[in-house]
Amino acid sequence: MKLIKDIREMQLFSMETRKQGKSISFVPTMGCLHNGHISLLKKGRVLGDVLVMSIFVNPIQFGPKEDYVSYPKDLNTDLIEAGKHEVDVVFSPAAEEMYPNGYETYIEVQRLSKPLCGLSRPGHFCGVATVVAKLFNIVKPNIAVFGEKDFQQLTIIKKMIRDLNMETDIISVPIVREADGLAMSSRNNYLNKEERKAASCINTAILKGKKLFDEGINKTEIILKTVRNIIEIEPLITIDYITICNINTLEDLIIVKDKAILAIAVKIGKTRLIDNCVLEKGEA
Ligand code: AMP
Repeated sequence: MKLIKDIREMQLFSMETRKQGKSISFVPTMGCLHNGHISLLKKGRVLGDVLVMSIFVNPIQFGPKEDYVSYPKDLNTDLIEAGKHEVDVVFSPAAEEMYPNGYETYIEVQRLSKPLCGLSRPGHFCGVATVVAKLFNIVKPNIAVFGEKDFQQLTIIKKMIRDLNMETDIISVPIVREADGLAMSSRNNYLNKEERKAASCINTAILKGKKLFDEGINKTEIILKTVRNIIEIEPLITIDYITICNINTLEDLIIVKDKAILAIAVKIGKTRLIDNCVLEKGEA
């Protein structure tokens, strides 16, 4: 396995790989790898000849009061993990190389970036779209793998690909969860024992919402009220949003006809966590 930190070196590697007729699959991450990331790597491994993973904590997707500085970083442990999962190249550039003095180009997927997480994290998805576009220009992947946990991010990246005629295929992977249902996240490391215990109610609430839908309730107001009640019982949790929205436009729905997404964002102490599930007729 190769560790590449230099942007030009990564570009040359990718150009040479593609010149040899080999395909590149790509898994972008911010490191602190857990089993959610590993499932992306497994998917990437089978989809491409050469598997590249990036580890880059992207400063421009964090707000001024967010956890950029404290975000968990442990490159050596991540490299060992990457090696176990047959990653060919780990690309881990320095922030100063990605955004040198005078950097001024940003990508904004305008409408999709506004609701849900966009409301409490203005600028976040602009940072995400920009770094993903830069990484795609550097790594030149045929295929890139993203997790469905960050479904708004996934929706935005797919839209960016279409709008900018980018040639990378986007593949998504289902949410990987802890034994009690909590979606795996590098930020789960921030939770103390009580907070971690409280966090399990996020998935409990989502599953209850899905059950109601599967039983035939399609009025979002009813489902959302039940989901909200389950989370509000937990004194350690503050709800950012709970919504049922159109899977493509992210617009709130009053009735679910065939398919929608139930999405939640909460804060537990200082830790912001998100989760979601698809509601789909005939899926139960
Ligand atoms: P991150 O390192 O948090 O930026 O995540 C990198 C990639 O891993 C993103 O595509 C995430 O959606 C994905 N990911 C994070 N957590 C999970 C999870 N629990 N299950 C599946 N994918 C995940």
